[in-house]
Amino acid sequence: MPIAVDAFKYGTIPSVTAYFLTHAHSDHYTALSNTWNSGPIYCSEGTANLIKHMLRVHPSWVHPLPMNVPTEIPNTGGVRVTLIEANHCPGSCLFFFEGKQTVDAGDSTFKSPYVGTTRTFRFLHCGDFRASPAHIEHPEVKGKRIDHVYLDTTYLDPKYTFPPQPLVISACAELAKRIQHGDSLLYPAQPGTMSAWVTTTSNADVKGKQKDTAKANNVLMIVGTYSIGKERIVKAIARALQSKIYCDSRKTAILRCQADPELESLLTKNPLDAQVHIVPLGHVNLDKLKEYSEKYKNHFKKVVGFRPTGWTYVQPAGTDQVPSIPTIISRAQRNTFTYTDLRQGRGSSSTLQVYPVPYSEHSSFFELTCFAMSFEWGKMIATVNVGSEASRGKMAKWVERWEKERKKQGKNYIVPSRKDDYW
Ligand SMILES: [Zn+2]
Repeated sequence: MPIAVDAFKYGTIPSVTAYFLTHAHSDHYTALSNTWNSGPIYCSEGTANLIKHMLRVHPSWVHPLPMNVPTEIPNTGGVRVTLIEANHCPGSCLFFFEGKQTVDAGDSTFKSPYVGTTRTFRFLHCGDFRASPAHIEHPEVKGKRIDHVYLDTTYLDPKYTFPPQPLVISACAELAKRIQHGDSLLYPAQPGTMSAWVTTTSNADVKGKQKDTAKANNVLMIVGTYSIGKERIVKAIARALQSKIYCDSRKTAILRCQADPELESLLTKNPLDAQVHIVPLGHVNLDKLKEYSEKYKNHFKKVVGFRPTGWTYVQPAGTDQVPSIPTIISRAQRNTFTYTDLRQGRGSSSTLQVYPVPYSEHSSFFELTCFAMSFEWGKMIATVNVGSEASRGKMAKWVERWEKERKKQGKNYIVPSRKDDYW
């Protein structure tokens, strides 16, 4: 197909008439800048805003496409593309292409025998994504055999097992709420206590109470994020505390690109007006947080940092490194995660605490396995960790095992999921 995805570093590619960008992370838009003139760029609305804002790509090249609706791309011989929410950073999407092979694009000497034939091909490019049952259940994808899947293989290794994203997000929100309401709540409540409190108190009372407590026990929650990504934790904590969100003007401008009305309504320019601040991920350590919060020390009695990163979780010693696929699935599906699983990092004190959070916006090994096991595909193509022969070999072994296990399970097998948004 005359299509290239996340391939801007190659500049103009022979026979390519449509350039696609999955999301606005720098390793995917490498070399894209205000001098781009190689052809139209297709992406989601959020990504379009971001590349116009951050990279100054001329708007005439940028073509935002709607989510979830198949759209025919001009000058591609009738290729249709569907954008599917990737569950990665804001604006990120999967591209699902359907169409005929019409050109041998690029400078490869390989010539496809299908160019000019009537066969329809289906290619799914995952960009970066956190696989979820929603991807498998997407009406445009469900029940179709996909020829090639370009897979985000960042964590294609069984040592990367972190808990489901929605559980981690609610654990952070719950912990923030409990810290805000005083440490006593950090210990398990008496059975029924919490629910009694919730049912006998009206919403207005709760709000009033929360405001009073906030004055008495003002805690500053600082969440580390990338320039784009991990906003879901920030929003959940802000919602739980009914607080505004503060970050510097550079980050604010990037957040505004997302066209997310809820997020926009939470932003404030006044740092004292928000109990939730966003800082770069690398700044969430005791030294930097101490320095950061120095200027707010008369306003906040306590500072709590959240450091979301996928590498926080350490597998218990002795865990089988090459488990069978049914073992991988059943073992992972027993895992849960609540606020009590968040532990203060070393050196934390009663007034300054850092919580490492096992949070990732890439699929865990388990999620990749569930994803690959839940639909029919011809070929999986790794897009990450492909630099070394050894790493490619290791990943190819897992793809082979998925293939074998899929055959065993039969044609329409789908890994049963615990919820709509995680396996
Ligand atoms: Zn990314």
